[in-house]
Amino acid sequence: MVRIQSVRKRYGSLEVLKGVSLDVPEGGVVCVVGPSGSGKSTLLRCVNRLETIDSGRIWVDGRLIGFREHGDRLHLLRPDELCEQRQKIGMVFQRFHLFPHMTALQNVMEGPRTVLRASRAAAARQAGELLERVGLADRAHHYPAQLSGGQQQRVAIARSLAMNPKVMLFDEPTSALDPELVQEVLAVMRDLAASGMTMIVVTHEMGFAREAGDHLVFIDDGVIVEEGPPREVLSRPRHERTRAFLGQVL
Ligand code: ATP
Ligand code: MG
Repeated sequence: MVRIQSVRKRYGSLEVLKGVSLDVPEGGVVCVVGPSGSGKSTLLRCVNRLETIDSGRIWVDGRLIGFREHGDRLHLLRPDELCEQRQKIGMVFQRFHLFPHMTALQNVMEGPRTVLRASRAAAARQAGELLERVGLADRAHHYPAQLSGGQQQRVAIARSLAMNPKVMLFDEPTSALDPELVQEVLAVMRDLAASGMTMIVVTHEMGFAREAGDHLVFIDDGVIVEEGPPREVLSRPRHERTRAFLGQVL
């Protein structure tokens, strides 16, 4: 479903991704861990084309992201084509970025209404279903300021799902939450994983990685140092850098 091939990305003289390759099969849940500044967020941002890669290729659902191939030359896609590609890729950030002047229901309806041109009735019905799915049916008419951080993050997940994405990217979705609110968000993500959603999850929640992840990737200094089944990597890391990192977070 997602194929990342030899991706390199630099900011000025700083090379942040130094040839990263990763395959995520349909329904696969890949967790990405690594030290601060190792390139985790940049990798996710390259997948949904918030960043332009310098070399390599990324495909989502069989489509090359960001470029059109013309013989052996690559041409940048037009902004409207990028926009269309991005709709297929949901992203949830550490901070929830909900529209503060809209209720939970309106937040979830907004994408389908404005981008997909869904009718008000259809968008409202779907938004209601999604809020129920994330356990917030009774909060539909609350504004973000009236919701806890965990509830806001669950609305943000529902809002991403409303666009019917092929893959969901999560960038430390629980890092900004008070500890007691972390589990309710992870529970929603577990349900999503169990429902067959393809997911790439940057997280420090090793319990989630172990139980919900199919594959764990340890990235350090822009390269994948080690990867494999989460239980194996977590219990028997092969590389010294992985051991040192896990020693700090476990
Ligand atoms: P964290 O765990 O702290 O979120 P990360 O693994 O997500 O870290 P990235 O955010 O991908 O790391 O950043 C990787 C490196 O790229 C860092 O050194 C960062 O300072 C740098 N960087 C990220 N975005 C930019 C940018 N827009 N311009 C310049 N440098 C950037
Ligand atoms: Mg980050």
